[in-house]
Amino acid sequence: FTIHSVADEPADDSSYASVSDAHFADTRSGGIASSVTELIGDTPLVRLNRVASDVDATIAVKVEYLNPGGSSKDRIAQRIIEAAERSGQLKPGGVIVEPTSGNTGVGLALVAQQRGYRTIFVLPDKVSESKRAVLRAYSAEVVVTPTNVEPQDPRSYYQVSDRLARTIPGAFKPNQYSNENGPLSHYETTGPEIWRDSEHRVTHFVAGIGTGGTISGTGRYLKEVSDGAVTVVGADPEGSIYSDPANVHVYDIEGVGEDFYPKAFDQSIPDSIVQISDEQAFLMTRRLAREEGLLVGGSSGMAVAAAVQYARDHHLAADDLVVVLLPDSGRGYLDKIFDDEWMRAHGYADVVEATTPEPLVG
Ligand code: PMP
Repeated sequence: FTIHSVADEPADDSSYASVSDAHFADTRSGGIASSVTELIGDTPLVRLNRVASDVDATIAVKVEYLNPGGSSKDRIAQRIIEAAERSGQLKPGGVIVEPTSGNTGVGLALVAQQRGYRTIFVLPDKVSESKRAVLRAYSAEVVVTPTNVEPQDPRSYYQVSDRLARTIPGAFKPNQYSNENGPLSHYETTGPEIWRDSEHRVTHFVAGIGTGGTISGTGRYLKEVSDGAVTVVGADPEGSIYSDPANVHVYDIEGVGEDFYPKAFDQSIPDSIVQISDEQAFLMTRRLAREEGLLVGGSSGMAVAAAVQYARDHHLAADDLVVVLLPDSGRGYLDKIFDDEWMRAHGYADVVEATTPEPLVG
């Protein structure tokens, strides 16, 4: 049984060993991995015990920060690079150029480095120094562009990355918003892992929508394998086009929501889309760290908040099993969601109050 639970204390040392050995055997049949990229995928499912205590359904989360680059984007990076090698778009000595500031950059940098390619990431200047430092640490080259220019401006990050991809010999631009290998990587890995680890009991799948790759690929697999029995639910920030095209505006949750419909998103896959506010997402993000020991990012909090709301609104029963994908770690958000001053300054004082215990000292 592969849904781990903190409530299920091991009866003795031997049962503890059998649980972890079983998972290890599933993951890569023991031994020594030949490179860090072999550790991509096969992330565990774990049951939520406290934040979903008022719903009857079981809610289990898929912990994608346990990928070697720290997010679900390692999966797409691996498949995009392998496909570009097969098609001849990427040749030995090639250079990967992509406008990305976050998780996709880390995934691409990690896989590229292991296969001998160089990487150049073009980012807007609003991206924090710590995110630039992570990419440089993996030996990527970082090109910073001004945020406050139109997309058509030659200095904009779209234009600069297009120009670099055109002019650098051997350059390849993955374009995660339209590359079919993004959703395909989830169809081939994330979906089958959830089906296997839930022992075919999954009834609902919940994920945030950014490029749409995760929900489209995983959702399509789960619908096909279950003959349509699995319900797919999208989670979307208030202000994004997916849940309310008439009311697109800025929001604070990172990595999800859009102001256009990317090619990687198959709109026929979600059965419904739940809209979540920044405040609801950040409250759940902080609760996951405090109450479930899961230090995850804001899009993970959003997805769990959507799952709980959906389970409540649709009166899901005890035999329903809702699997929620948590894309990345909370380490990248320590200076925002987990910083009380930042939270208060951005209008989330109530969230800080609700998630701060009385001090024992001082
Ligand atoms: N959460 C985070 C933190 C992300 O970086 C992304 C990817 N943009 C997503 C969620 C959404 O995943 P997808 O692009 O597959 O829809």
